[in-house]
Amino acid sequence: MKTDPDVLSTDAPQCDRCGRCLSVCPVYSVSHVETDSPRGRTDLTSAVTSGELNPGPRFFEAVDRCLLCRSCAVACPKGVDTASNVLAARAEVSRPHGPGARLGEAAMDALIPHRSLMSACVRTAGVFSRLLPADKAGRRHFPEYLPQMLSGRGVPPITGRPLQKRLPSLVPRSPGSPNRGRAVFFTGCFYGLVDFGPGLAAVKMLCDNGFDVLIPPDQQCCGAPALFSGRLKSFKTVLRKNLRSLAAVEGPILTACPTCASVLRAHYPEIAARMGGPEAEQAKSLGPRVQEALTFLAGLSSLSLPGSTQIRSAAVHQPCHFVHAGGDPAAVADLMRKRGVELVMNGETACCGGGGVSSLKNPDLARELGSAAAGKIAASGAEVASAACPGCVLQIGSHLGKAGSNMPAIHPLEILCPIR
Ligand code: SF4
Ligand code: SF4
Repeated sequence: MKTDPDVLSTDAPQCDRCGRCLSVCPVYSVSHVETDSPRGRTDLTSAVTSGELNPGPRFFEAVDRCLLCRSCAVACPKGVDTASNVLAARAEVSRPHGPGARLGEAAMDALIPHRSLMSACVRTAGVFSRLLPADKAGRRHFPEYLPQMLSGRGVPPITGRPLQKRLPSLVPRSPGSPNRGRAVFFTGCFYGLVDFGPGLAAVKMLCDNGFDVLIPPDQQCCGAPALFSGRLKSFKTVLRKNLRSLAAVEGPILTACPTCASVLRAHYPEIAARMGGPEAEQAKSLGPRVQEALTFLAGLSSLSLPGSTQIRSAAVHQPCHFVHAGGDPAAVADLMRKRGVELVMNGETACCGGGGVSSLKNPDLARELGSAAAGKIAASGAEVASAACPGCVLQIGSHLGKAGSNMPAIHPLEILCPIR
């Protein structure tokens, strides 16, 4: 592994092999194979870093099967962060690539740093997605006969015009609300370009609670797909663009996507510090300003929740990136109670396996974890399934459909603030 000061180094020497992380790793819970465990992955990345081991197919498989959920980092008494070791390995260890993988990487490098191109591709995909079969709840899936990476995979509801075309860049607070100053809204790609519902609900709730909401027009993808795939050059390009867009404006930076929140809060300062220059200071001050929107809203004094919902009960799945990156599961429960929705389940499901890049590379694993989470939710008897993450909503909804359930899967913001 070459050493690049811009990426993360491995911290395997701190591991004392206690094994606690094995009990929380969703991948190990399925395979029970040591190289699928956090301890095994950390051992392997350490051996490759030190030159003891030449990376081969088994190494790349172990690195690619990590879902980056960070459950192991929370459980580890020594502070070993296997997900960071895995990210470093994905970025630094060169591997043999077939034409399909090279094409995928080229597409990612072209799309991630160019929001308008990504938007055009999403809208085109939206037209074709209407040709796909739908389940009882209207969710569309790729047909089962396609190659394993796509077979049966859920397709998000592509809602046409991007969020930023539906709202002005500065949305004023609602009439009669207390003046709480300005909040900055980071849409993320999914809620900005694919499904505008949760983003619109977040902005409305912020305005109803006295915030003027700025939606910076030049914001980009947070870069998570590039970072998680080891495409650091593309990641750094969007990091610089987003810092230019967000660092100069005042106010808390909020997003409905916990993956965006975790990347902006944790990875921007970490990687910008290694890049040096003005970005290091900008990212250091930006990180603490970023928060997942539900947790922020739950922390407001005298929260106003205008309107009402027809939904009476929900089974809430707590996404890994929400739980392990600053989101507060109790905040979701609190908001639901205020809205009068009964939580028949809150966080009893394990990782759903829906993480975008990992689920594409490991469709078997994603299916097993997805059907387990959806099965538990379907059995809860709740009216809707809910998760504060676009990947989890898609994955759980898709597996509910496959199990013959017409239970909808939606973001909690759409329950709290029904707008469509
Ligand atoms: S919990 Fe931490 S110290 Fe224990 S085996 Fe896992 S990585 Fe090593
Ligand atoms: S980040 Fe999650 S999937 Fe990866 S090794 Fe840790 S617990 Fe397992």
